[in-house]
Amino acid sequence: MATTEIAPYGGVTPDAAWAQEVRELARKRDAVLLAHNYQLPEIQDIADHTGDSLALSRIAADSDASTIVFCGVHFMAETAKILSPDKTVLIPDARAGCSLADSITADQLRAWKAEHPGAVVVSYVNTTADVKAETDICCTSSNAVDVVRSIPEDREVLFLPDQFLGAHVRRETGRDNIHVWAGECHVHAGINGPELADRAAAFPDADLFIHPECGCATSALYLAGEGTVPAEQVKILSTGDMVKAARSTSATSVLVATEVGMLHQLRKAAPEIDFRAVNERASCPYMKMITPAALLRSLRENADEVHVDAETARRARGAVQRMIEIGTPGGGE
Ligand code: SF4
Repeated sequence: MATTEIAPYGGVTPDAAWAQEVRELARKRDAVLLAHNYQLPEIQDIADHTGDSLALSRIAADSDASTIVFCGVHFMAETAKILSPDKTVLIPDARAGCSLADSITADQLRAWKAEHPGAVVVSYVNTTADVKAETDICCTSSNAVDVVRSIPEDREVLFLPDQFLGAHVRRETGRDNIHVWAGECHVHAGINGPELADRAAAFPDADLFIHPECGCATSALYLAGEGTVPAEQVKILSTGDMVKAARSTSATSVLVATEVGMLHQLRKAAPEIDFRAVNERASCPYMKMITPAALLRSLRENADEVHVDAETARRARGAVQRMIEIGTPGGGE
């Protein structure tokens, strides 16, 4: 899906009247508003909860609300529906896709499995429900290494869809029987090694908070390995773990390698720290489709409802539950 060809819903200013109407409609609909860390600041601020995709799905499942409004991208709302099949799950704009989740289809995965009979399929949470249903174990960026370590050494592993996270897992486990799908997120892949090296040289005392989907994750570990940046300053973190690290670091400045919406939560969590993006252009156009107008429309019209058929949800739920049982699942993207 090329979001550049799709105009997001617009024409609404996120002022006090908007906020009041959103809150009022949410109350009438018995809805809980969830916002991913990459959402626009005004969407993060109006939400009941902000966080990473997995944390939000768990909050959705534990909530008493009968309706979940998931301000994020489509696979995240699907994951919430998989874990809460009896609740109404809305996404303010169903066109909000994800280039990483779209990089492998269930048909492609079935064909890949046929080439490697007996292999264990490990999928990152940034996948569609159909792909999760073909998966043995899902993983987050926090527990991907533990999930792969839990698989007997002699079993082949198919890891998908993110090649940078896959490279990280292969490096950490030292296994040579991991096959990695060549998918990537166009936003994270654009945060590259030379850019990181330049920023790290300009801010030598800064901590580096790096999401493992980034094109620069390998470079960050290389910089640490060669001593250009002290190893203790390099932290490979999921978005949820970045917020925790912001609260505990003693650094006064932090360079952040992930989607720029993350800066809003980090600055709220630790206002005294100078947070800077490694790449200020790293903005996800899909995430930014959840506009104030889209949220209002969602609540007024009960749209767009997310459906996952019962059998797909059952199979996908098994893979997600196995993920939660292994290591520290931490957060999704
Ligand atoms: S930042 Fe990348 S992985 Fe995340 S939702 Fe956007 S396209 Fe997908």
